[in-house]
Amino acid sequence: MDRYDVLVIGAGPGGYVAAIRAAQLGFKTACVERWIGKDGQPALGGTCLNVGCIPSKALLESSEQYHRARHGLAAHGITVGEVAIDPAAMVARKDKIVRQFTHGIGGLFQKNRVTWLKGSGRLAGEGKVEVIAADGAVQAVAAGHIIIATGSRPMPLPVAPLDGVRIVDSAGALDFTAVPARLGIIGAGVIGLELGSVWARLGSAVTLLEAMPEFLPATDRAITALAHKEFKAQGLDIRLGAKVTAATAGADAVTVAFEDAGGAQQATFDRLIVAVGRQPVTDGLGLETVGIRTDERGFIPVDERFRTSASGVYAIGDVVRGPMLAHRASEDGIAVAEGIAGQHCHVDYGTIPWIIYTWPEIAWVGRTEQALKAEGVPYVSGVFPFQANGRARAMEAAQGQVKLLAHAETDRVLGVHIIGPHASELIAEAVVAMEFCASAEDLARIVHAHPTLSEALHEAALAAQGRAIHI
Ligand code: FAD
Ligand code: NAD
Repeated sequence: MDRYDVLVIGAGPGGYVAAIRAAQLGFKTACVERWIGKDGQPALGGTCLNVGCIPSKALLESSEQYHRARHGLAAHGITVGEVAIDPAAMVARKDKIVRQFTHGIGGLFQKNRVTWLKGSGRLAGEGKVEVIAADGAVQAVAAGHIIIATGSRPMPLPVAPLDGVRIVDSAGALDFTAVPARLGIIGAGVIGLELGSVWARLGSAVTLLEAMPEFLPATDRAITALAHKEFKAQGLDIRLGAKVTAATAGADAVTVAFEDAGGAQQATFDRLIVAVGRQPVTDGLGLETVGIRTDERGFIPVDERFRTSASGVYAIGDVVRGPMLAHRASEDGIAVAEGIAGQHCHVDYGTIPWIIYTWPEIAWVGRTEQALKAEGVPYVSGVFPFQANGRARAMEAAQGQVKLLAHAETDRVLGVHIIGPHASELIAEAVVAMEFCASAEDLARIVHAHPTLSEALHEAALAAQGRAIHI
């Protein structure tokens, strides 16, 4: 029986990073992964690389370029001829990027001497894992430390069963080869808004049916209000408090029945995406063989060092509590490997950035104003609109604002909330500031290059101190 110091089950951004870090630390490491890519070949990288972060951002970029070519160039005095979109070519570009990255992980495994065991991993008692290959062959391996990084999958919605053609999940929505004239999306969360944006920019009439009465409840209210207004102006029809009761796929269309404040409603779409959240993957994993029980939502309980209730078994990423984000999973992966090596093992969940890659982008770190109010924390707020930022105006992209929240007594930065151009990149400065326990004054006294978008964060910090210069 092959024996490894560390064996990781799952090669998403949690698992593959944990495996590489474990190998760097001198452990003999293997990683079990069963994913079969779109080309029919085994693939590393998990949800994120195959059907998540990377492919969705590739399509967001293509659709943004198309939209700008059609609608954004006239303001710069540029006239273009007819602009056309070839969705099949756009999807093929996305597939190429996915292949390059998933193959790249294979290269990183080779470089770091991580053995890829192809197949499904299943715990088989203390220190033992069985790997079931696609042809059914079973290989038993032993490991001193086992890291479960099996990730998550889309949450099914029984009233809207997928048929893979008319009704699809987020993975199916990355592969439309024609622009649906009418696109319905159940769930106005992160996936609904990102994929809704892709197809709306390409010409779909997009309707989002959201069960909750509130839009993006985890986001700062001021940002949500601006986002809602902006998305509406872009044509996204966001129906809040809409409870879907049935979705029926026909030969040419999908009929969706739902209830909202106006009573029973019906809508017809060419395609329907179900994006109502994700759930942890633990079925068939043999957790019972080592006595691990999942919690009431299906997650594997872990302590602050990612230890499960079974000795020598750890769990990280989407399969455990916390935000379902790739960068969070990867940081868990590094921390768990370092913990196994007897090193410091810590991830600061208080400074994990969240980003929604719409236009304008939404990004935040730390606490929202409504959370600070609810907790009774005294705070001051500084807001700076991109309308007053020279670079944003030069880019013709001056929608949105930066909002900074600082403790009213200590001045420590407690949260930064951005809606605007390149918010995904701008938020990094706020993350660093918060990680180093910066005050609003620290940010206000740091020189920011002119003209840059980052000056908006500088000005928001000045505003929190009541001394903004440009508003
Ligand atoms: P996963 O990436 O889900 O990987 C788990 C792996 O384990 C899979 O490859 C699976 O095949 C394998 N596996 C499961 N069980 C077994 C088994 N028994 N044996 C062998 N292998 C097994 N996050 C961001 O931070 N930024 C984004 O922009 C972003 N965009 C997203 C867009 C979409 C459309 C989706 C769906 C998700 C997106 N996410 C994004 C979320 C992100 O993809 C996940 O948070 C991240 O992939 C979680 O990493 P993970 O390693 O925990 O799990
Ligand atoms: P989500 O939790 O962001 O949104 C799901 C939405 O569906 C919620 O607003 C919820 O109220 C709604 N909903 C639930 N049941 C419903 C029902 N029956 N009818 C109508 N609406 C319903 O989940 P998601 O958009 O599926 O994404 C899953 C996770 O993947 C995210 O939470 C995030 O962690 C990750 N992700 C991250 C990114 C990013 O970082 N940019 C992008 C995509 C996905």
